[in-house]
Amino acid sequence: MRYSLFSLLGNTLGGHKGWKPTWRDAAPKPAYDVVIIGGGGHGLATAYYLASRYGVRNVAVLEKGWIGGGNMGRNTTIIRSNYLLPGNIPLYELSMKLWEGLEQDFNYNAMVSQRGVLNLYHSDAQRDAYARRGNAMRLHGVDAELLDRDGVRKLYPFLNFDDARFPIQGGLLQARGGTARHDAVAWGFARGASDRGVDIVQNCEVTGITIVNGRVTGVETTRGPIAAGKVGIAVAGSSSRVAAMAGMRLPIESFVLQAMVSEGLKPIIPGVITFGAGHFYISQSDKGGLVFGGDLDGYNSYAQRGNLPTVEDICEGGMALMPAIGRARILRTWAGLCDMSMDGSPIIDRTPTQNLYLNAGWNYGGFKATPGSGLVFAHLLARDEPHPAAVELRLDRFARGAVIDEKGQGAQPNLH
Ligand SMILES: Cc1cc2nc3c(=O)[nH]c(=O)nc-3n(C[C@H](O)[C@H](O)[C@H](O)COP(=O)(O)OP(=O)(O)OC[C@H]3O[C@@H](n4cnc5c(N)ncnc54)[C@H](O)[C@@H]3O)c2cc1C
Repeated sequence: MRYSLFSLLGNTLGGHKGWKPTWRDAAPKPAYDVVIIGGGGHGLATAYYLASRYGVRNVAVLEKGWIGGGNMGRNTTIIRSNYLLPGNIPLYELSMKLWEGLEQDFNYNAMVSQRGVLNLYHSDAQRDAYARRGNAMRLHGVDAELLDRDGVRKLYPFLNFDDARFPIQGGLLQARGGTARHDAVAWGFARGASDRGVDIVQNCEVTGITIVNGRVTGVETTRGPIAAGKVGIAVAGSSSRVAAMAGMRLPIESFVLQAMVSEGLKPIIPGVITFGAGHFYISQSDKGGLVFGGDLDGYNSYAQRGNLPTVEDICEGGMALMPAIGRARILRTWAGLCDMSMDGSPIIDRTPTQNLYLNAGWNYGGFKATPGSGLVFAHLLARDEPHPAAVELRLDRFARGAVIDEKGQGAQPNLH
């Protein structure tokens, strides 16, 4: 069923009895050409692009819970492509371009809103680093604008300019950045894939990966064995656990990342702001809640819940940036499970096992990459060669010393 003004009018006149389920909740078949493990944004986007762009439709997405129940439904919905290094920029900018046409492409309202992402700077050194990043972005055809203090004040007069320990000196703005409604993105990709024949199988946990003579032949699941010509792993925070089923030890550690939302307020924050003197970022949802987050909880974990000291630390960052936030009440906090890689950049590659492919290492930032990651992973699965936008994102870069370390933090995953 295509969504349009006519379908809306028709269904309104028909008492809304004609709407169909958004996607088919399929039962698993014994065999597929491609099995994708993980029904988060990246797994669903991969299935969508496999079917829509590469003509590969005998595909299953296996999800242990419900689609979008992982990080996809837990993130703070920020999209941007303001990266510094040539290994990363092509993928994130490809993704940004896909966001710009996504709703028309998959015929679903994902509330993509290019309301601007502003990174604040608070020192001369930070300004120079942001100027460098902005220049790198512009050299790659990505929009970037360096604002001074007055430029920021015009956009966000309520920030703490005059009474702060680290006064705001300016900011780097990506006007094309913004937000998108995360669960609608999952539903849109699921619907587009399902319409093209992909089976989306929920409550189906992969418990083993079957390998014969160095080649993957299928997976073991809680709903029985499933044979597969190719298998793609796209399980974000569970990457190390699933890769271990194929005997791999990944350069990834899993950490909990929390976020929170306030009660609904009248519009106050038009775009996305990140604090440069501490880890805090904020935007306002279309329902009016202030959505904000900050640092990882400081230890490895596979639990999808966090601890109060981190919440307190994040709120302190908020108070330093915009004291008015102290008047708002927090409605909910939640947490997801981030697959932090050793250099802070993703891995989209083949693995040493034939026909087994890996999509992982999304750190705090994989939501913005969802369409791009799906497209390049679909390309890799369909053609067995990396997409031009992902040529640097190889698994062996750690062994080669060719890391893509945006922040220059070294091999300490929680600092990226
Ligand atoms: C609090 C928070 C805020 C964030 N904010 C942003 C942001 O503003 N912008 C941004 O770009 N990124 C953000 N991120 C990061 C982003 O959400 C993730 O990088 C991205 O969603 C990861 O890809 P995914 O959607 O495929 O992951 P997920 O949605 O986690 O999908 C992986 C799926 O695999 C399933 N799975 C795991 N093991 C198995 C198994 N054995 N068998 C079957 N299925 C399995 C899981 O149940 C899960 O549904 C944030 C993350 C968190 C936690």
